[in-house]
Amino acid sequence: MWSSRIPVIQVSRTGDGLFGVSNKTRFCPLMSSFYKYTSYERKNSVRSGAGRQHMAEPVGEGKTCIMESEREEGDVKPSEEASTQLLMNDNMSKSSQSSQNSLDHHLDKEVTHSQRDRHGRFINPWPTWDFPSYATILRLFLTEKNNSNVPSREVLDKELPVLEPYFVHSSERVCGSGAGLRVTWLGHATVLVEIDGLVVLTDPIFSQRASPLQFMGPKRFRGPPCTVDQLPHVDAVLISHSHYDHLDAGSVAQLNARFGEELRWLVPLGLLDWMQKSGCENVIELDWWGENCVPGHSEITFVCTPAQHWCKRTPVDDNRALWSSWSILGPCNRFFFAGDTGYCSAFQEIGKRFGPFDLAAIPIGAYLPRGIMKSQHVDPEEAVQIHRDVKAKHSLAIHWGTFALAYEYYLEPPVRVREAMLTHGLNPEDFFTLHHGESRDINSYKVAN
Ligand SMILES: [Zn+2]
Repeated sequence: MWSSRIPVIQVSRTGDGLFGVSNKTRFCPLMSSFYKYTSYERKNSVRSGAGRQHMAEPVGEGKTCIMESEREEGDVKPSEEASTQLLMNDNMSKSSQSSQNSLDHHLDKEVTHSQRDRHGRFINPWPTWDFPSYATILRLFLTEKNNSNVPSREVLDKELPVLEPYFVHSSERVCGSGAGLRVTWLGHATVLVEIDGLVVLTDPIFSQRASPLQFMGPKRFRGPPCTVDQLPHVDAVLISHSHYDHLDAGSVAQLNARFGEELRWLVPLGLLDWMQKSGCENVIELDWWGENCVPGHSEITFVCTPAQHWCKRTPVDDNRALWSSWSILGPCNRFFFAGDTGYCSAFQEIGKRFGPFDLAAIPIGAYLPRGIMKSQHVDPEEAVQIHRDVKAKHSLAIHWGTFALAYEYYLEPPVRVREAMLTHGLNPEDFFTLHHGESRDINSYKVAN
């Protein structure tokens, strides 16, 4: 069920450019009582640094939720952004203070917060992170056998067919205004999720290559099942990190050209500037455990949650940006997007705080050679462990069957997932794969009252 704080934010911009505040009373159907809280809505980009930074919570009349950075004493190094506070009018700052005092600090002590080294680069704060040296990486790539064996197009069309998504010709079936959960796999980590009336896209890549250059770099062996123009209206995009197979400049530009500032981008710390340089105006940058929402849909909370990974787009920007998973907490459904990750204890924290999830999207591929990949990419057995840790009722396998990024046989990941589910006495159908472009209804959409 919901955490003790009701994580709902709505920020609005008044005509004079200040941020307006309004009191509203809302009822969450999953909760046993009404909560009165203040919400505010903001349409343009914002950088929100700290782990505890906003939290609309059940508060009394006259109090408000805050979007303010603060950090525990003794944290390794406060993020530069952590000291950034939203510019608010005087009234709001005062009421923020009163709300801040009522935050439940206990919850924050139970979870792992982001950390940086003395050079300001983000680090993975878990013993499970043990990234090999470049010499080891080179040696293993040269000496280990590459078993991927991606076959001819004819064989691929049989083994991994690319289907046209249902919404290309039946856009009227998308979402609706009722409660429900449907997922469509668009290849690699790109997933279109319809959840409780919102359409959300994860790590969109519609380009042929995961590379800064479209004539070299990893090329997809299965094409995207649709174009950006064939997507339904998208309300929000989640980005897990800056690697080229997850943050694709071409796809960002196309989505921005089509949806403009109507589309809310949710990104981990350090990516706001890149997004803005790409022309995106409606960007929310969050630290781990930071929350936000889509304007007008404060009943659905987006939480930036941890993952074990790294970031790099240029020769000099290693780990200048953070990486994350994402949790979407709707009034009737919950979705977890694991992004790109190695195994770490964060998933137990996420499960404890936000589980159970109705659906998780969990990476299962790009795991060999293990000596290179273990810290950054889970193998199928660890993917099943994440499924268990976050308490997913169903999981969709992602991050496989699209790019040959590693040395495992291209069809091995789902076979091993199935075996691991059986080993744990779980129903293998609960951790499923989809064809490219295929959809699955997890909880059927009902007509809203
Ligand atoms: Zn990555």
